[in-house]
Amino acid sequence: MLVERLGSPDVMELRDLPLPEPGPGQIRVKVEAVGINFADVLAVAGEYLTRTRVPYTPGMEFAGIVDALGEGVSGVQPGVRVACLGGTGALAEYAVVPAAGLIPVPESFSAAQAAAFPVSYFTAYHGLKTLGAAQPGQWVLVQAAAGALGTASIQLAKAMDLNVIAMASTEEKLELARNLGADVTLLQDDPDRVQKVMEASGGRGVPLVLEVVGGKRFQESLKMTAPRGRVIVIGNASREPAHLQPGELMKRNLTVTGLWLTSLMSDQEATREAAQELTRLVGSGRVTPQVGPTYALADSARAFQDLMDRKTTGKVIIEP
Ligand code: NDP
Repeated sequence: MLVERLGSPDVMELRDLPLPEPGPGQIRVKVEAVGINFADVLAVAGEYLTRTRVPYTPGMEFAGIVDALGEGVSGVQPGVRVACLGGTGALAEYAVVPAAGLIPVPESFSAAQAAAFPVSYFTAYHGLKTLGAAQPGQWVLVQAAAGALGTASIQLAKAMDLNVIAMASTEEKLELARNLGADVTLLQDDPDRVQKVMEASGGRGVPLVLEVVGGKRFQESLKMTAPRGRVIVIGNASREPAHLQPGELMKRNLTVTGLWLTSLMSDQEATREAAQELTRLVGSGRVTPQVGPTYALADSARAFQDLMDRKTTGKVIIEP
């Protein structure tokens, strides 16, 4: 899929391009499944945190079979399945990634599960633990709980013995959150939502919020946070501006922390710790990526649009 000008998902065009050659330190992978993130849609629209340079092929996380090794690559064999986290280029039959972009996943994962893993699970881990410093028995509020990051966050939170309040826009989505172990579920537009979060968390509010909606909801997240609690700002799905009054943080000793996986991945210590802990949790059988709707490569625009239209649950997958 090639993007030559930025805009709505239908700017993506299916094209025949030459087979990419892996340069030094790179690996060519035959793509089996691509995980689609909110960030991919924002990047095509030209609304992401970093500037999107065209022409380019979208797709940052995927699973596939190692096809060819560039100069100096060792420790990986052609023919094995790998999960990859790269910048762009996955919406294709073949993609080239730096060897450092390989993410260990268990052999028991299907290609779609492996493609659903890197972004959501590393982000959820860093939100809950690295930045959230969650402790067993604490409450955490998970927004967009039936989405890719939301389902990963519920699973990891439960595996860490946290109590989860899940919010989402429909009853069907809340049902999925409950099936994954959410202790309390609330409709995002429940008129009594703030009060209900306070009640569920013993009147104090929650010590940890994973904030992904932004806009007016950001103010509300602060209200739902317990004194000395933390709001981890991970996304702005509403695409509306949010306002922060420093005085409100002072009064209740709140902490607001931003999280961007791309910059955290370059912290080798944090990445190693997250990978070790995620490998342990996956091995214990308590964490299985939620594969959502699956689309053919030619239907990429529809996949992107459905994600934006809040029609999907779990990780949207595209199979070339
Ligand atoms: P999801 O699968 O969660 O899909 C997005 C969900 O956002 C929707 O299903 C919807 O759930 C919710 N949403 C709330 N308000 C809106 C709105 N106005 N328009 C569209 N959707 C809305 O996607 P991802 O897991 O890829 O991403 C979830 C969020 O986390 C995004 O904000 C994304 O940018 C962020 N993120 C950030 C990362 C980082 O490094 N900072 C890494 C990964 C994700 P519902 O219908 O229940 O409201």
